Amino acid sequence: MIIIMLGAQGTGKGTVAGLLSKSLNIPQISTGDIFRKNISEKTKLGIEADKYISKGELVPDNITVPMIEDRLKCEDAKNGAILDGFPRTIEQAEELDKMLRKMEKEVNLVINLITPKEEIIDRMLTRRVCTNQDCKATYNTKLHPPKVEGICDICGSPLKQRADDSDPEAIRKRLEIYDEKTSPLVDYYKKQNVLKTEEISISINRMGADVAKDIVKELKND
Ligand code: AMP
Repeated sequence: MIIIMLGAQGTGKGTVAGLLSKSLNIPQISTGDIFRKNISEKTKLGIEADKYISKGELVPDNITVPMIEDRLKCEDAKNGAILDGFPRTIEQAEELDKMLRKMEKEVNLVINLITPKEEIIDRMLTRRVCTNQDCKATYNTKLHPPKVEGICDICGSPLKQRADDSDPEAIRKRLEIYDEKTSPLVDYYKKQNVLKTEEISISINRMGADVAKDIVKELKND
């Protein structure tokens, strides 16, 4: 089963994808996490990707598309995967369709998360991530703080703010790119009859864990 997480930055894609991955036993493939791991390890790919990520721009397709194709071919993804952060443009969605066809797979479900913009910006500014790249737990200093300030509850490593979350200009740019380049994917997948839209917001008391629980229930009842 191939599941795609769609939605602007800060809507909770990573949280929902992580919970679905555990319940459905298929890997969460996050392009952002792969890039950040490469940046912290100072690989060639990481150094190249960082030029774009630090400015809030998209990493070019000649880097991103082969990277995701290689990852989808890994043994742990043979029964499917949850794609978190890919595709981000119509061109990437078309490339994904092509590579899945070659693997005799298809996109089965696209979860489109929506959250009011003010809440999104607040969540990006208050998001903290574990610096241990094998843990990558995410916290929020307001909604879901760690037990000890600045320390990961799970592995004890220090937490930090993502570089692109602390720069208001990079945040603005990422949201602008989402509106312009990624949001057309909603229609793209609506036409393929695989789109499911879910609102995540404190105002309706519905957070990522609630959405993941309902989706797992629906998938298991099918
Ligand atoms: P994320 O963790 O999903 O917010 O991604 C962090 C950054 O990685 C984005 O702002 C982009 O610079 C880059 N990135 C992640 N996924 C993609 C993608 N599918 N295409 C191009 N750039 C990406």
